[in-house]
Amino acid sequence: MRSTVLLRHSGLAGFLSALALAVYWFLGDLALLALAVGLPVLVLVAVWSWPWPGSKAASDQVIDRLEAALHDRSEGPRQTGCFVVQFDDPSRICDRHGRTLQSEVLAACIGRIRGAMRPGDRLFPLEDGSLVVVLAPSQRLDLEGMVRIAGRMQLVVQQPMVVGDISVQLSCCIGFCHARQINAETGRALLEAAQIAADEAMRHRPGAIRAYTDDLALIRATRDRLRSGFAEAIDAGQIRAHFQPQVSTDSGEVSGMEALARWHHPDRGVLAPGDFLPALEGTDLMELLGREMLNQSLSALAEWNRAGLAVPAVSVNLSPQDLRDPQLPDRLAWALDAHGLPPGRLTIEVLESVVAGVDDDIIRRNLDRIALMGCGVDLDDFGTGNASITSIRQFSLQRLKIDRSFVRGVDYIRDQQKLVTAILALAEQLGLESLAEGVETQAEHAMLAQLGCGHVQGYVISKPLPPEEVASWLRQHRERLPRALRIEMRAR
Ligand code: C2E
Ligand code: CA
Ligand code: CA
Repeated sequence: MRSTVLLRHSGLAGFLSALALAVYWFLGDLALLALAVGLPVLVLVAVWSWPWPGSKAASDQVIDRLEAALHDRSEGPRQTGCFVVQFDDPSRICDRHGRTLQSEVLAACIGRIRGAMRPGDRLFPLEDGSLVVVLAPSQRLDLEGMVRIAGRMQLVVQQPMVVGDISVQLSCCIGFCHARQINAETGRALLEAAQIAADEAMRHRPGAIRAYTDDLALIRATRDRLRSGFAEAIDAGQIRAHFQPQVSTDSGEVSGMEALARWHHPDRGVLAPGDFLPALEGTDLMELLGREMLNQSLSALAEWNRAGLAVPAVSVNLSPQDLRDPQLPDRLAWALDAHGLPPGRLTIEVLESVVAGVDDDIIRRNLDRIALMGCGVDLDDFGTGNASITSIRQFSLQRLKIDRSFVRGVDYIRDQQKLVTAILALAEQLGLESLAEGVETQAEHAMLAQLGCGHVQGYVISKPLPPEEVASWLRQHRERLPRALRIEMRAR
């Protein structure tokens, strides 16, 4: 391929002679010598770094290959299929000196997958870091066969490998589409279908394999629409922070409000994060959401201050992207300053799964700085993210938020009580406060208070409220408080 690329440039020889003449004429024979030595080196480097910008993109080469496979009738009607392999964040694999080993790891994986392919199958690395495998047309290819091939590719990728000075085990997700599944007429349609399946597999990572289905295409179309409309929705004020109160189990007083995003969609009504966050994940839009929620939360808090309403703090959910932004602590400090609020009035929520990942220095340093500034740091969905005690201790945290799955039925299910008791003992040992979320009944609330959980949040106290309803809820809560406390004291 590389030599054909060169030959295609038929004007090259004429251009080179003109260049040599001009160099000799204007700069002398030394410059000509430098050109004679330097130019071949430059050409070699350029050819080696193929594809060049402006040359045929890798995805177009895939499409050409698929077209050829789809329309190959040389040995009667045959079938083909397309796989898209996506790796689980290889950029985070580093050697002992912190140097990323991404390209070495990918090169090793390419070699392994090639070794698992049959003659005639073709592999293409795409610009986004994924790999595409196009199967050679075959009479016997069916869906089951494709599942087996995907499994084989995954197996060879996931075998441990030694790269640089470390041993690495990489996982990958694979999506695929058999040409018959979409009655594929074009290579582009087949590639897109396999990419849709790969995206779905990535949503179930690590190590998922997914085949294309028509439902997935529908989900993708909805996701694309939400994604493309999100920035405009922010400008139009459709993305709004709703607030869910958190109360102290000791005093019953409000100890904070968690900001939860809602999209007031003009056609689809109020959308919860589950309806639109998946469309934003992995894009810059996540950061846009984080900034908007921070700004709205602090504005609301400043407003409640002015109205004389006692809300000690707001909690904002931050995405892994937000947490990896080295400017995050500065951004938080500026936002607090702009609203005239001290850092102690802001808590950030970090998912347990985020601190459970491989060592992440930026996140750790960010959390250290944020905690040092005086903001609270809550570990969200605790108990679901598989963080080790060592990793929890490495991060500056203030409170564990016990996930709803441990809270459900805690008043009558003995095993739930044991689990919550164990989590509370852990929190105490680590010097952390505790909050139970998703508390739905008075009985759960009373039991959590009895077990020693510091704070609760859930529908039994209030659903998330639009900001304009918070003031009246706070007033009602204040009025209900002495009665509620008496009931709770009786329950203890
Ligand atoms: P989360 O942070 O765990 O938030 C608690 C979720 O539980 C919220 O769902 C809340 O409405 C719901 N909930 C509260 N009390 C109860 C209860 O008693 N019973 C039940 N069944 N559910 C309860 P929501 O608002 O749908 O948010 C879902 C998730 O979306 C949040 O889970 C959070 O991880 C994410 N999220 C929400 N807002 C944001 C945001 O602004 N940024 C980011 N990055 N993520 C957000
Ligand atoms: Ca949360
Ligand atoms: Ca949570």
